[in-house]
Amino acid sequence: MRDLSIYIHIPFCVRKCLYCDFLSFPVRGAETGGEEELERYQRLLLEEIKQQSIFYKEHQVVSIFLGGGTPSLMTEEQMREIMEQIRAYYRVAEEAEITVEINPGTVTEEKLRGYITCGINRISIGLQSADNEELVRIGRIHTYEQFLETYRAARGVGFTNINIDLMAALPGQSIVSYHNTLRRVVSLRPEHISAYSLILEEGTPLYEKRDRYVFPSEEEDRQMYLMTGRYLSAHGYHRYEISNYAREGYECRHNKVYWQRGDYVGFGLGASSMVEDVRWSNPAGMEEYAAYAVQARTPAASVHAETSADAVRPGENASSVCPHRERLTVREQMEEFMFLGLRMMCGVEREAFGEKFGQPIEQVYGDVINRLCTQGLLMTEHGRIRLTERGIDISNYVMAEFLFD
Ligand code: SF4
Repeated sequence: MRDLSIYIHIPFCVRKCLYCDFLSFPVRGAETGGEEELERYQRLLLEEIKQQSIFYKEHQVVSIFLGGGTPSLMTEEQMREIMEQIRAYYRVAEEAEITVEINPGTVTEEKLRGYITCGINRISIGLQSADNEELVRIGRIHTYEQFLETYRAARGVGFTNINIDLMAALPGQSIVSYHNTLRRVVSLRPEHISAYSLILEEGTPLYEKRDRYVFPSEEEDRQMYLMTGRYLSAHGYHRYEISNYAREGYECRHNKVYWQRGDYVGFGLGASSMVEDVRWSNPAGMEEYAAYAVQARTPAASVHAETSADAVRPGENASSVCPHRERLTVREQMEEFMFLGLRMMCGVEREAFGEKFGQPIEQVYGDVINRLCTQGLLMTEHGRIRLTERGIDISNYVMAEFLFD
């Protein structure tokens, strides 16, 4: 039985953050049909979850992640129905990690309690900064105080596995204010912290307004990154991936599936999937997705049935084909194996590469690995290859070295 992870995309937010280029949009107010929009979407999800399940009878679900968007806009009841639908159609491991992303200010204690009773055992709260002015500048809907209320409510109802998302390199952010954010967050003792630098994406409102603000320089951004590692390590959080830190035993299992190239299927608007090296994305337009989600799949279909002319596979059915469906070439698989695996501090295992691709890693990447080791960017140890501190610092360069032309 193969392991499977499930991602569910909820593309609605209260309003769009100024830096956001994710597939998400503001949900209309209840008085103008927002509730119906969510309800309709949730029904589509239920249908898609059911229709797709025929492909995964031999899989065991080891993690579920509800991301967005703002999944916490869903009521307890809507969330319960989604979880029940998954359990009805998939084999979910007893110890599966089940995470929901939460935006401060979008949950009540009652809703959080409801989430726990439907089996959610991990939450991820988007804080980004403990400085209210920084939050306003990037268009977040909440204050630090509202985040605190949400965090305490989550602890109060019994969540024992909480992630907090942070961002560095925000407009107007200083090293001192970033340090203050780290200090405040660590004092709460969450189990997991993710800390990414803001990437100013063209086309976002923040990009258009960029001249109005002073952004941290590249050097300051680097200092914030180094400070994150040092500060969190001094307080009991180990870095297990370039931007992710956890207390002992709380690494995010769902994200590790992505970095280790495990099988995952995404449900919902624009959600991506990869099963046995076949990758596809759901339609990103709501009406196309609505048509796709309700289409019945052929029960005989199997991901293994590549050679049969009539075969219908995940991501595909008799009357519709998902956009961007592709089987990765062996070279693409090797590239991904390296640059995703090296994101993790434990690096990649030589033997695992050999087993997957039928040839020793040295035969494919020997020269690259030797050169990067000589440059002090990679190290080899106990059969594994991993980034050094210097390698982490310029990881984009290191990863690019593993790409074939
Ligand atoms: S809450 Fe997240 S998904 Fe929604 S607009 Fe903000 S950054 Fe984008």
